[in-house]
Amino acid sequence: MATRCSPLVASRLDEFRLIRDLHRRFGRTGPSVLCGIGDDAAIIRPFPGHHLILTTDLLAEGVHFNLGTATFEDVGYKAAVANLSDIAAMGGIPHYVLVALALPASCTPVAVEQFYQGLMGACRSHGVQLVGGDTSSSLRGVFISLTMTGSVEPRRALTRDGAREGDLVYVTGTLGDSLAGLTLLAAGRTSRSAGGTRRSRLLLHGDRYRRALILRHLRPTPRLKEGRLLATHRLATAAIDVSDGLSGDLAHVCEQSNVGAEIEAAALPLSPACRAYAAAAGLDPVGIALRGGEDYELLFTVPPDKRTTLERRAREAGYRISRIGTIQPKQLGLRLKGRDGVSRRLRILSYRHFQGSRATQREAAWSH
Ligand code: ADP
Ligand code: MG
Repeated sequence: MATRCSPLVASRLDEFRLIRDLHRRFGRTGPSVLCGIGDDAAIIRPFPGHHLILTTDLLAEGVHFNLGTATFEDVGYKAAVANLSDIAAMGGIPHYVLVALALPASCTPVAVEQFYQGLMGACRSHGVQLVGGDTSSSLRGVFISLTMTGSVEPRRALTRDGAREGDLVYVTGTLGDSLAGLTLLAAGRTSRSAGGTRRSRLLLHGDRYRRALILRHLRPTPRLKEGRLLATHRLATAAIDVSDGLSGDLAHVCEQSNVGAEIEAAALPLSPACRAYAAAAGLDPVGIALRGGEDYELLFTVPPDKRTTLERRAREAGYRISRIGTIQPKQLGLRLKGRDGVSRRLRILSYRHFQGSRATQREAAWSH
């Protein structure tokens, strides 16, 4: 696969210079970092009275990102958000990040600088400090692995296995925007390379919605504050971040909690931009919301007696949450109640590595 690093600068990458630069730019850390970038390993003071959260994510060029539709800065930002969102879904506070990079020789120092710009932009907004990493050359494509740490109070973590029959299913924000943004980006790229701008520009009158959807794809928001609200007030029985698509991520919660669920199509939160996109593209917005990944919203379950408190606290804090369904007995599987009031089996359409398709075999396990 062609690696399109910035062609502007001819100078080549140098591992030791890169580490020196990183040390100079990000080496000044807070008092909890006893030893950061520059030594053999980092040493940090643990957060007193908290449990440690660890998460890691690997991004491979061509699988997770494409340098034709995202800049290095976008990729850095999103790599950070993927990890921040995992910590949000555990109800934790993020603290430190380690970054491992494998870069092809064609990659320039400017491209790496842009990557760290995006990465640290997202990290700094949430108080996360860079404390180390590793750098290697790559024979094919860019590989990026982030490891992030966080912490959470004992007995407050949000796990996937606590959902109980009768719990209400909620989601933060809106769903499907990221997939719509990605489709717009990809269509824009295809039509440009084909020498035309017809189809992609037809879609949304005025460019505001178009820009909003693309931004949601390239610069998603990790729902850390929402996760903390759920954890500190013990409002949720289970939580997961929507990174693979609502239907697939709901299936993870149901499987691990040993329950079923019914989602109501009419209750799925859709942005005006996503609705406009769906209308222009002749698609069902509900399908986009169920299938779309990388929204990085939180999907969580709440016992009915905590509903009032949850909704009041979310309103007071200004967080958007929507009740989209209920947890059911396991025998019912996963169901979708359509706008016509008819309940059908929910097809699980989310990305699966090594499958070569978005439809998952998990469907078979849930068919009734
Ligand atoms: P080692 O030989 O033990 O792998 P390195 O020379 O790779 O050590 O790393 C030296 C220091 O630079 C370490 O503190 C390491 O954490 C940091 N470092 C190396 N690569 C990166 C990177 N891509 N991002 C952040 N820190 C890095
Ligand atoms: Mg190394």
